[in-house]
Amino acid sequence: VSDVLVVGGGVVGATLAWRLAQQGATVVWQRADAPRSASAASGAMLSVLSELVPWQDDHQRDLEVTSRAAGRRAWDRWLAELGEAGDLPPGPVRGVHVLGRTAADVEAMRVMRADAVRHDLLAEDVDPREVPGYRPDRSMAAVDALLLADEATVDSADLLAALERAARRCGASVRTGRVERIELAGGGVVATTDAGPVEADQVVLATGAETTALLRASDLSDLLPTVLGGRGVSVLVRSPQLAVGCIRTPNRAFACGLHLVPRSDGTTYVGATNRRTTRVDTESAPHLDELTSLLGGATSELDVGLRKAELLMTAVGHRPVTLDRLPLVGRTSAAPVLVATATWRNGVGLAPVLAELMADELAWPGSTKDHPFAPTRTMTPAGLGADALRRGAEGIVDAIFESGQTGLSRSSELSAFLDVAMTSLVGGGDDALVRQIGRLLELAPLEEVLPTVHDLVVRQRG
Ligand SMILES: Cc1cc2nc3c(=O)[nH]c(=O)nc-3n(C[C@H](O)[C@H](O)[C@H](O)COP(=O)(O)OP(=O)(O)OC[C@H]3O[C@@H](n4cnc5c(N)ncnc54)[C@H](O)[C@@H]3O)c2cc1C
Repeated sequence: VSDVLVVGGGVVGATLAWRLAQQGATVVWQRADAPRSASAASGAMLSVLSELVPWQDDHQRDLEVTSRAAGRRAWDRWLAELGEAGDLPPGPVRGVHVLGRTAADVEAMRVMRADAVRHDLLAEDVDPREVPGYRPDRSMAAVDALLLADEATVDSADLLAALERAARRCGASVRTGRVERIELAGGGVVATTDAGPVEADQVVLATGAETTALLRASDLSDLLPTVLGGRGVSVLVRSPQLAVGCIRTPNRAFACGLHLVPRSDGTTYVGATNRRTTRVDTESAPHLDELTSLLGGATSELDVGLRKAELLMTAVGHRPVTLDRLPLVGRTSAAPVLVATATWRNGVGLAPVLAELMADELAWPGSTKDHPFAPTRTMTPAGLGADALRRGAEGIVDAIFESGQTGLSRSSELSAFLDVAMTSLVGGGDDALVRQIGRLLELAPLEEVLPTVHDLVVRQRG
């Protein structure tokens, strides 16, 4: 019987297996052979400020910035440690340029500047024309640019391989195959796998967007709030001109912004789409509309030179996310079952924070029960506030017109109309639709439910 069974082969499971084994726990690390994990699809930007969006409240923004900054600092130490042990080539690539083109981009960058001052982080105004590797189409040029020198990127494939080497080196016993079910037994847990049962004193679920499915299969759904998936698509290309550093837009309506990240082998990572889904489908390949918006955006907004790039690989992953968008880390109400997930858009950057919280919880049970990431916290649906409806309407319009095709430049009129239309829709329109919206609101904030509502209505009417 091992001390800890860690389930999940993404960056969170990998860092947990490494750090817990390094601290002397007997660790069994159970990894499904799933090429479509969020970690494998990720750009592996170690973001702090560049992830900010303007509409978060101060408390949540502070918590997120502080946590991401702690993750960023820990990665410097951890990457040095992995490098010294021979597990990873030196890194990371430092400095991220943020480019703003739309009014929403510029507003997000205003918040980044303000938070840089508030948290004593580096944010330097630069001329967009001076940003290395930034070659937008003439019609899509940025009006604002920032260099965030504290931020950095790593190569997600190199990182995952290095973490696996490190976990093995520190004595974690690595097993391949899915966990079908977990059961509480004799004060510990038994996991059912293809290769037979695995017993442990405690299990940590680092199963990302599939966490809810595993708990359902185990008749343990009550232990956690629902974890949804933010489906994301990215591609790897070989460009005629080498990418020299990470360039990105701010996060956009229902998306995670566009970014180019240079990889250690001279290829360029292009990311990413983001759409919340209640159905985590790890089998499905990228859809053509996902590739169209990703590639169209990157080749026109960031680097026209990419039009001649070779497409080498596509990837799909599901960012694990809860209603309040904060991670779930710690002990559930069933003491032998712990969880480390719901890292949404920042799981690579936040992985050290999760690993350190988990190490504390295992060493001193109960020590993290009051942490804001505690899985036993209460989450309240935000409701149908006028502000959220207005933001949702703007978000739908921004998403439709993101490509820069602003039609007759009547997007403000369209969002005003959508605001009124949605207010009357939720205030007494189609009953079945209102019920569907109500169910979705139990799982995700309104602004992110609205694109699904939009799709639903278009499908029903279409
Ligand atoms: C396109 C894209 C770009 C992103 N870019 C960034 C970025 O630049 N920076 C950043 O910090 N974050 C980024 N993210 C977010 C980040 O990737 C995630 O937050 C993070 O990878 C989550 O890690 P994880 O280990 O929890 O989940 P995952 O990487 O999804 O891993 C979960 C693992 O659990 C396994 N699993 C699930 N169920 C079972 C089971 N029953 N038995 C055994 N194994 C199971 C799965 O097979 C998978 O291997 C991005 C995400 C996407 C999709």
